[in-house]
Amino acid sequence: MPFASYRDNRKDFLSLVSYACSLGINLFDTAEIYDNYELLGRALKGFEDVFVITKSYAITREDVDRSLLRARRLMQRDADIFLLHEQESSLTLKGHMEALEYLNKLKENGDLRATGISTHRVGGVKGALEYSDLIDIIMTILNFSGLGITDGNRDDMEMAIKDCFSFDIGTIGMKILGGGHLLRDINRAFSYVRRLDFIHSFLIGVEDREELEMDIRLINGLISGDTISVVKGKERYIEIEPWCTGCGLCVDRCSQGAISIVNCKAEVDKEKCVLCSYCAQVCPDFSIKVV
Ligand code: SF4
Ligand code: SF4
Repeated sequence: MPFASYRDNRKDFLSLVSYACSLGINLFDTAEIYDNYELLGRALKGFEDVFVITKSYAITREDVDRSLLRARRLMQRDADIFLLHEQESSLTLKGHMEALEYLNKLKENGDLRATGISTHRVGGVKGALEYSDLIDIIMTILNFSGLGITDGNRDDMEMAIKDCFSFDIGTIGMKILGGGHLLRDINRAFSYVRRLDFIHSFLIGVEDREELEMDIRLINGLISGDTISVVKGKERYIEIEPWCTGCGLCVDRCSQGAISIVNCKAEVDKEKCVLCSYCAQVCPDFSIKVV
């Protein structure tokens, strides 16, 4: 769920998560930076057999201990899978080696089920392959248009993931709807991921029960006429994530003059925005979502 939604609607968040569990969704993705541990932990009470992934930018052993303790304290449960967030290449991974080796030690001791990386870059996936003995799982961006892949295209990413898959690394696809920018082509987005036999799991963001039910139908290939009306009938707008660096690339790309930088962050004027999604294509940090 997008940040704004769950912060304003805690009750909706709790009921949506438990509804998802009751429908068989068994993998939940969070991260230290998302700042939602407490709420997610509350929502997952009574659903102990689902898996939780979390991520942090840990570099040292102490960072890992701090991150895991924080997750445990706030969620009141352990994360099953701990990933190093936003790894860009083998060089980035090298810089996080102390944390990665320590995570593997925790796994050997039975304190963690799996570890690995999350990335938006082909270089990150290739880097993981170089350290395949230390990586159980890669979580990477993948969608039919390649939106959000910062150093290549969809084919490059597919090839890199296939290599990991053939080395028995678990593969998790994220942003299959391109952060909401591919909602107009939702059938195509789901048809694309359904044929990928080298991805073990997908993460799909949903905002309410209707969308969740629709996504489950789509992922199972049970496409019906009302699918599109669920998507089209909703009022959508652009949301800027808190990790926006204020680089201004989106401002230059927006021909509607709908984005400006305010207090070092991008801000969107909803009246001017026509939801063309061009800004998302230039954002290096995937900070622009359609919600
Ligand atoms: S391009 Fe992305 S990171 Fe840069 S200002 Fe726009 S939203 Fe923020
Ligand atoms: S979606 Fe299009 S109109 Fe809206 S802010 Fe982005 S580039 Fe501008």
